[in-house]
Order: sequence, then C-alpha cells, then structure tokens
Amino acid sequence: MSRFFSDRYARLTPYTPGEQPQDMQYIKLNTNESPFPPPAAVCSAVEEAAKSLQLYPDPDCKKLTAALAEQYQVDPKEILLTNGSDEVLNFAFMAFCSRACPAAFPDITYGFYPVFAALNQIPYTEIPLKDDFTIDPADYFGLRKTIFIANPNAPTGIALGLEQIEQILSANPGNVVVIDEAYVDFGAESCIPLIHKYDNLLVTQTFSKSRSMAGARLGFGIGHPALIEDLNTIKYSTNPYNINRTTMAAGIASLAAQAETDANCRTIAQNRQYAAEALKELGFTLTDAKSNFLFAAHPAIGGKTLYQKLKDRGILIRHFELPRIRDYNRITIGTLPQMQHLIRVIRDLLEETHENI
Ligand code: PMP
Repeated sequence: MSRFFSDRYARLTPYTPGEQPQDMQYIKLNTNESPFPPPAAVCSAVEEAAKSLQLYPDPDCKKLTAALAEQYQVDPKEILLTNGSDEVLNFAFMAFCSRACPAAFPDITYGFYPVFAALNQIPYTEIPLKDDFTIDPADYFGLRKTIFIANPNAPTGIALGLEQIEQILSANPGNVVVIDEAYVDFGAESCIPLIHKYDNLLVTQTFSKSRSMAGARLGFGIGHPALIEDLNTIKYSTNPYNINRTTMAAGIASLAAQAETDANCRTIAQNRQYAAEALKELGFTLTDAKSNFLFAAHPAIGGKTLYQKLKDRGILIRHFELPRIRDYNRITIGTLPQMQHLIRVIRDLLEETHENI
C-alpha cells in the first residue's frame, strides 16, 4: 500500500476472481463460463464494429436497450446496460444502500456482495442459509434493509420460486430487493415480469454465462423506471460510456441469435444432469442446482484436496475456504466430453484414496 492510499479503502479486502491461469491448457470448470463460443454472427458483428473504434459508443445504448426491451417485454426506460452485471450490482449498492439503509444478503452467496458493501462503506448483515443451504424467505421479511439475493444462488445453485420472491418483495415495500439472475437461464424462473407489480424490485442479468460473452463484459438491470433513473445518475457520474462499441454490437447480435443460446442452455442442463447422476453414483452429496454449475462434497475426500488433485491433473474447479462450505466444490458444467473426462479422473482419484486408507 502506498502512503497516499485513502484511509477510506485502506482496510478493503478486494474480491478474488477465479483463477485464470495462462500457463497450461486446463479444462476450466472454475468460473462458470460457457464452454461454447459465441454465435458466429456475434463475432462478425464485433469485427464490423471494430472499424468504428475511433468514435465513442452511444452512452444511452439505444439499439441494444430496444432489443433487450423487446426480448423481455419491458419498456426501454426499465433497463440499464452495464459493464458486466458486477457493475449494475455495484451501482445498486451505491444507489440504494447507505449507513441508514444497510444491505442484507445470505451468508453463503456471491462473494462480491460484501466487497461492494465495504467499498461503499455500507454496513451489511449476512443472513444464514438453512442447514440444507436453502433460503427461508421469512428470514427476509420486514428487514428494513436493501436485500440482495442471487437466484439461483451461488455457489449452491439452489433456486427460489417466484411465489417465494413475491413474499419477500411484498414484505419489504419500503426497501429495494435486488434479484441477481446471473444463472437464471439454466433452469430457474426469471422474476422480470414482477417488475410491473413491485416498484421495489431490481432484477440483474448478464450476457457472461448463457450467452457465452464473459469476455465482452455485458450485464443489465431491469426494474421500475424510477430505480433505473437512479442507477443512471450513478452511471453518468462514473462512466457514461460503460458499454464499448464492440460489446454493444455483440449484444445486439447475440439477442438476434436467441435460438442458439436456448439450445446451448438445454445442452448445459443435460450435461448437468449427466454429471450430477455420475457424481451421486460415486458417493457425492449435491445440492439441487439449477445453474451451469454443481455444488458437490464427498465424504472420503476434502474439498481442498479434491480441488488440488484435479488441478494437478489439468482440471480447474472452484473451492471456497469458508467454514460452512469448505467440504464442497463448485464445478462448472462444460461439454459432455469434458464432464465425462472429469468423472473418469474423479473415479480414479477416489480409487487411489480408498487404496491408501
Ligand atoms: N452474480 C453472480 C451470482 C455471479 O456469480 C457473477 C459472476 N462472477 C456475477 C453476478 C457477475 O458476472 P458478470 O459481471 O460477468 O456479469
């Protein structure tokens, strides 16, 4: 730390992104990326847009906003596009939380929430998940705090139903409830239609996962126009050109290629089912994940050990050093051959482990 670093941030522990090793070809099942490249039309759109990189992009993102509005049957005024959904989440912490209105989120959830809270000097409460890692909506009733819930949750993959989300929304009419739907396309139900019923609902989504565009950094928030106006105040006070030209073009082309996204999501769901069944047969305990990842623990091998042994064999998965979940690993769903290879390697590892007991 330099002697110039503001004391506002001196004690900040930044978010640790998943490993992005450049040294060897790993089977990357650690950061919930799509195993599929983006549609060819997305790549051509990027190439075309690159020819105009001397110009700033449209700060209002009009074309892409209109295409998204059409896709989700909402008004353009109900949408804000951001540089990944991390940006809209940070904007939501900035816009809707304060010392007087702290944040609340589950104790086991997306690790960026506490970092955004700390960055913005916002107090927060972590609400324990139940022992089976599910969320009890009643724990969120009348909190008088800004609530952040990932649905499906990460890293558990467990999803709430719309009725449960509605219970939380109607029990907190005086507070914003942010539902982070980064993984919703893989098997959960989106609550975007509820924005017309609840003016305190902000839904966030991303092009990073189901749309194979993690490298382009594109996310968005959907909610009541007044919420979006507030988020725009933050956006125009930080980075009006937050979506670059190539990403904007990629986003428009991606929405036009919806059939390919849908097909990829179906494949991921099938591969998830294959991997979940195979892991169960090998003795793993799994949550009922509706995401593009599984959350799994094995009685005979610790979470950290499994992570390390797989890494030594060229497969990266994600381990979290948190007391409640240190026996578990989060495993991103890849292609079927990748999943078959993973299962073979784990089977061999477990056999070795048994032989050594
Ligand atoms: N929410 C959750 C629950 C996530 O796991 C992630 C991915 N790290 C994000 C939001 C942010 O993703 P992105 O910024 O790529 O949209």
